[in-house]
Amino acid sequence: MIVPSRKTKESGVTGSAMWDERLRHFERQRERMVETIREFVEIESPSDNKPAADRMAIFLAAKFEARGGRCRLHRARDFGDNLQIDFEGSSGAQSAKRKPVLLLGHYDTVYPLGTLASMPCKLDQGRLHGPGVLDMKSGIALIFHAIEALQTWHGELPRPATVFLVSDEEVGSHSSRKITEALAKKSAGVLVLEPAAGLRGAVKTARKGVGEYTLRVRGVAAHAGLDPGKGHSAIVELARQITVIAKMNNLGQGTSVNAGVIEGGTRTNVVAAAASVAVDVRIKKAKQASAIDRRFRALKPFDKNCKLEIAGGINRLPMERTAGVAALYQQARKIAAEMQWSLDEAAVGGGSDGNFTAGMGIPTLDGMGGVGEGAHAVHEYIVISELPRRALLLAGMIESV
Ligand SMILES: [Zn+2]
Repeated sequence: MIVPSRKTKESGVTGSAMWDERLRHFERQRERMVETIREFVEIESPSDNKPAADRMAIFLAAKFEARGGRCRLHRARDFGDNLQIDFEGSSGAQSAKRKPVLLLGHYDTVYPLGTLASMPCKLDQGRLHGPGVLDMKSGIALIFHAIEALQTWHGELPRPATVFLVSDEEVGSHSSRKITEALAKKSAGVLVLEPAAGLRGAVKTARKGVGEYTLRVRGVAAHAGLDPGKGHSAIVELARQITVIAKMNNLGQGTSVNAGVIEGGTRTNVVAAAASVAVDVRIKKAKQASAIDRRFRALKPFDKNCKLEIAGGINRLPMERTAGVAALYQQARKIAAEMQWSLDEAAVGGGSDGNFTAGMGIPTLDGMGGVGEGAHAVHEYIVISELPRRALLLAGMIESV
């Protein structure tokens, strides 16, 4: 829906003219933005392949260094190195006093090395396709172009900014979480460049919390033909446990539990000695975390000869729509209105590193990245015509957070 821009004292005719000119700037940059995204997509960077991921980190470091950023690679043993880039901001007294804004993203993707061969980066009818193009290499490109534009318009970046691009977001952010939290603590606010919600491009002001549990059952093996009575099947026990776990679902309260992967047994003629299930858990409120955790840890075997072992927990607490989150959204709405754009907000089920920073009480706005569909899927794409206003929204937020 198109709404007319409000002609208030602060954003009068001159204000609107400025935003129009800025939008035209990004319209002129559109092809360059597409090329930047293509460069990023064509360097494959799966979370589970350190050498490949490191190549991406080094490429990004050089790219941002050329814009005057100070790069620091935080070494990670099992994942790509996490990349921090600091921009000082202009030396004016006002800028120097401001805390940096944290621009948060991840450069890892869920696609195994070699995916480009079957899923090449290609332009088609106003869309750019490719592995990770939406989630979230276009988001990283938006950061790059927003910073570049601000430097062009102001001579220097008008305030300090820290870009943090992590290597392991898609697999739980184990190597990067502490650094993300430390940087968030020092920042005025966090803008997360995850994809926007839906094709209307809503920003994300609430996310569910995410956890993963593994239940392992140890039974007693026996020959299924000779001694069936002596065995205690881990598979039968696991099947009964899964029905208990499935009852933890409470969609009305926003809790969902999915027994997603089961393993167990060795041969048909052996009573299974071991079986396990991996379970994905989503919660809406932080206070639901301990309740669900207690229920997992309270699981008791039906067959006393079987033993249960539970591992895992809630990894990301929900990103709740706090006053700080709502204030950032209002600010983003104001900037969008300058472009005659009515910016929506959305609550989504997936977690991101924004859950960590919002959970610490730092104002966080997520879903600032590209607009498209098919994240993690073979048809993943972004809508190219959305890039200019996304870049301008981000630039405006970097100025004002
Ligand atoms: Zn993502």
